[in-house]
Amino acid sequence: MSNAEPAPHEIACGGTGSVAAKPVADLIPARDVPLGRYTTVQRFLPHRDRRMAGAWCFLDRYGPQSVIALPGMRVPPHPHTGLQTVSWLLAGEILHRDSLGNTQPIVPGQLNLMTSGHGIAHSEESPREHPPTLHGLQLWIALPEEARHGPARFEHHGDLPVVTADRVRATVVVGELDGARSPAVVHSPLVGADVALDAGADTRLPLRPDFEYAVVMVAGRAGVAGDELGVESLLYLGTGRTELRLTAEAPARLFLLGGEPFAEKLVMWWNFVGRSHEDVAAARDDWAAGRRFGVVRGYDGDPLPAPPLPATRLKARGRAGD
Ligand code: MN
Repeated sequence: MSNAEPAPHEIACGGTGSVAAKPVADLIPARDVPLGRYTTVQRFLPHRDRRMAGAWCFLDRYGPQSVIALPGMRVPPHPHTGLQTVSWLLAGEILHRDSLGNTQPIVPGQLNLMTSGHGIAHSEESPREHPPTLHGLQLWIALPEEARHGPARFEHHGDLPVVTADRVRATVVVGELDGARSPAVVHSPLVGADVALDAGADTRLPLRPDFEYAVVMVAGRAGVAGDELGVESLLYLGTGRTELRLTAEAPARLFLLGGEPFAEKLVMWWNFVGRSHEDVAAARDDWAAGRRFGVVRGYDGDPLPAPPLPATRLKARGRAGD
C-alpha cells in the first residue's frame, strides 16, 4: 500500500523521548485518508500524538467494504525504503507484484512481508475476479540502521503459528508471542499478532515489560486492559506490562503490535523512512529518475509519481507532538 496523501508532511519519529516508560492507556483516534478513487483507509499510525509503537511506524485499516462490481484495491507501482511492509487481510484477496519479480496473491490468514532495504517497488491490486468484501491491515516496520541499506526481500507465509486458550485464538504474524515465533524475518525484537476472541472470552496474554504495545480492533469491541475499545481508535499501552487482559462479550478481533522502543530517530515522508530530510529527498529523486527501485512488471497502469517535497524540512527529533 502507498501513502496516498496528495501533499504529505515530513514526520519526525523514533527515539525514546516519546516512549511511555510505564503502562498507559492512550486512545488514539483513526483519521480517514482517501486511497485512490474507490477506497478510504483509517490511519492509526503515525498520529500527531503517537508516531510509533516499537518499530511499528505506520498502520492503516481498510474496509470492510463491498467490492462487488468495483475494481477494489488499485495501488500502482510505488517505491519504499527503510521499512518492511506487512500485508494482513481479514477478507478478500490482493495480488502483490514487486520489482524483484515476485507475483503473489494473498488471502486471509497469510502474510506478505516485503523488506525494502535500500529500495524496492511494488503494486497491490484486487484480482479481476475477487471476493465480495475487502478488509485488511497494512503496517510498516522501521528497519534499524544495520538493515536499512541491505538488499530487498519478499516473503509469503501461508502457515503461521497459532496460540490458543479458552475462547481465544492468536495468530503470530511476525515476531514472538507466548513462546510461538513467526517464521517471518524481522530485524528488531517485536510482535504482531491477530487475536480472535469468542463471546465470553476472558484471557491474559503474556507481554514483555521492555516492549511498547498498542492494540487496534478489526471487528467488534473488546475490553483491553480494562478499557473498552472499538474499531474507531488505537489503544497505546506504553511499556512495563507483563500481561494484557482481554475480554469480549460478543465475538471480536484485534491486532496486537509491540516491540522494543525504536531508539533511532527517523524522518518519514510519503513511502520512505530515512534518517534525514536529505535521505527522503534522495529517495524521491531516485524514484523520479527511475533509479534504485527497479521496475514492477504486469500492473495495468502507470507507476505513482512522487508528490512534491514539502517546503518545511524536518530534522529527526523523535518526540511525540513535535
Ligand atoms: Mn506499499
